[in-house]
Amino acid sequence: MRIAVVREVAPGEARVALVPEVITRLVAAGYEVAVEPGAGRTALVGDEDYTAAGAIVTETPVADAAVVASVQPLPPDVLPSGSATISFFPAGSRLTEVAARRDRQITTFGMEYVPRISRAQSMDALSSQALVAGYRAAIVAAGRLRQFFPLNMTAAGTIPPAQVVVLGAGVAGLQAIATCKRLGAVVKGYDVRAAAAEEIRSMGAVAIDLELPTLEGAGGYAREMTEDRAELQRELLTPYVAAADALITTAAVPGRPAPMLVTRTMVEQMRPGSVVVDLAADSGGNVEGVQPGSVVAIGNAQVWGGFNVASQLPAPASRLYAHNVGNVITLMTRDGAFAPDFADEIVAGMCITHAGDVLHGPTRDALA
Ligand code: NAD
Repeated sequence: MRIAVVREVAPGEARVALVPEVITRLVAAGYEVAVEPGAGRTALVGDEDYTAAGAIVTETPVADAAVVASVQPLPPDVLPSGSATISFFPAGSRLTEVAARRDRQITTFGMEYVPRISRAQSMDALSSQALVAGYRAAIVAAGRLRQFFPLNMTAAGTIPPAQVVVLGAGVAGLQAIATCKRLGAVVKGYDVRAAAAEEIRSMGAVAIDLELPTLEGAGGYAREMTEDRAELQRELLTPYVAAADALITTAAVPGRPAPMLVTRTMVEQMRPGSVVVDLAADSGGNVEGVQPGSVVAIGNAQVWGGFNVASQLPAPASRLYAHNVGNVITLMTRDGAFAPDFADEIVAGMCITHAGDVLHGPTRDALA
């Protein structure tokens, strides 16, 4: 049975879905893996590395494929009817494609729908890519700030450390905190979840306490704020933002646009040379006025808007993503063949279309 790995075509997408070390494992499990020439180039994997891992490099990897692995979704018309795809698949914004996939009998698995349960941790691509993005956010902030992050005590005098504030302390935020700490900054973090304060402290940062109720919804995720709460939270965060040399925001609420945590007026109170990095820019933004993929000036600060940030470190992001995808394929393999068990919670959770039907409830409702 063939697994195809394609060259990504979405603008700015530098990752690849499978890397050689995972392919070796899939070949040993009985699969044929076909890779499009140059598929791994931007992620620093050569065609010869794929060949050495036992893959076939061919211009037509998708032909006869049972499974097509990619990072971004492929258009339905390039997929063999009856095949399965494994990629990120933001179903809510791709309803026409969902209908076309249903009609072509394509089985669609969306990596962002892997349930956040212990058994699925090795398949959790949202977490693996958030980790990469959080690290990158810290490095962008350190690189753009025209100051040291660490304290420097020298014979020529003492330079104080940078003050960093991180809003949103999920996977990306905690990684940003850890990276800023390693670089020597003084870091404060804030999140609305009850467990977050302890997690922030465990990274060696100060947990900001606004003395507001925590906001937790289903599955331990954050709930959306009411407008009153949002207003109060912004007011209470204003002095922390004003005192920061670098502000990193990573807040998200599943299925909703990113919460607006920082107004333009708050950014205008930051000192000359300050840096704001908004990882949520491509889902609405935590910072008013941010633009995904660009740097804009607001007051004295430069505001960097993230866009597909994990792809900015394509080699480690691809490696982690490939392990996630490889583990999904392994879960769906029975006796050397691709045979997903739709009674399995993970398989069912991540399946959008199958056998001429839309199985993902919210997407089915949106199409009705
Ligand atoms: P996410 O990307 O959905 O959100 C990022 C962070 O923003 C979250 O910590 C959230 O609480 C925070 N946030 C939302 N609204 C906010 C606001 N108004 N102000 C400040 N912060 C706000 O989250 P994520 O990083 O994917 O993970 C969040 C939770 O899921 C964590 O509890 C994490 O430990 C848990 N998780 C569990 C698993 C697992 O069990 N397999 C895997 C990954 C994450």
